[in-house]
Amino acid sequence: MRKPIIAANWKMYKTTEEAVSFIKELAPKIPEEGDEVYLAVPFTFIAPSVEAAKGSRIKIGAQNMNDASEGAFTGEIAASMLIDAGAQFVILGHSERRRLFHEDNLFINRKVKKALLEGIQPLLCIGESKEEREAGAEKEVIYRQLVDSLDGVTLEQMERLVIAYEPVWAIGTGTSASYEQAEEMHAYCRQCIKDMWNPELSEKCRILYGGSVKPENATQLMEQPNIDGLLVGSASLNVETFHQIIHYSYIGNIS
Ligand code: PEP
Repeated sequence: MRKPIIAANWKMYKTTEEAVSFIKELAPKIPEEGDEVYLAVPFTFIAPSVEAAKGSRIKIGAQNMNDASEGAFTGEIAASMLIDAGAQFVILGHSERRRLFHEDNLFINRKVKKALLEGIQPLLCIGESKEEREAGAEKEVIYRQLVDSLDGVTLEQMERLVIAYEPVWAIGTGTSASYEQAEEMHAYCRQCIKDMWNPELSEKCRILYGGSVKPENATQLMEQPNIDGLLVGSASLNVETFHQIIHYSYIGNIS
């Protein structure tokens, strides 16, 4: 039904050489059938990573992009440039971009629409902060993020987009959301998609969970009916650990 995705977010880590050797070690371990494997790498190693992943099922993507086609935007990168380097997807709206670089839903919405227009798959991140959860506002926050970031996105375009629910309080903290908390929020996201588009799309749309995923919690997270994959930060930097997550996720997915 919904093909799971196990995605790595390498953030600002590794060298080109390390990236290439990681991919060459991981590629032969990935079974021919099974979950999709995505690696979001720093811009400078997109092309060499694509080359290293050739012949495997690993998809290489980026961690951010600008919504403009080109222009005087020092330090930014355009969708067409990512595609030119071989990227197949792009993470948008990651909580570190929202928090450290002040990206809001409006800007993220423009990026999502640009990515879809140019033909690169957006992986849209949403998630509430610790304070918002403590105030009992997690669903309200998610609803707003979905409505604002996906404003004007057509049904056809939605079929190409992936959502990642990443509670900010679980990112990089070592404390994942409980399976129950994660499942509840994923089911809520699916309900929002149903209300915003239609029941058919809500059943098709893949929603990944991110936030302190490790080999130890991958199986149980993937056993939840509304979790369609994982977005992994720190634990994706080590090839053996990431491979274990792919393996344990698959077990959870088929059980
Ligand atoms: C992330 O940054 O998307 C993430 C989920 O990080 P971590 O797995 O380290 O919590």
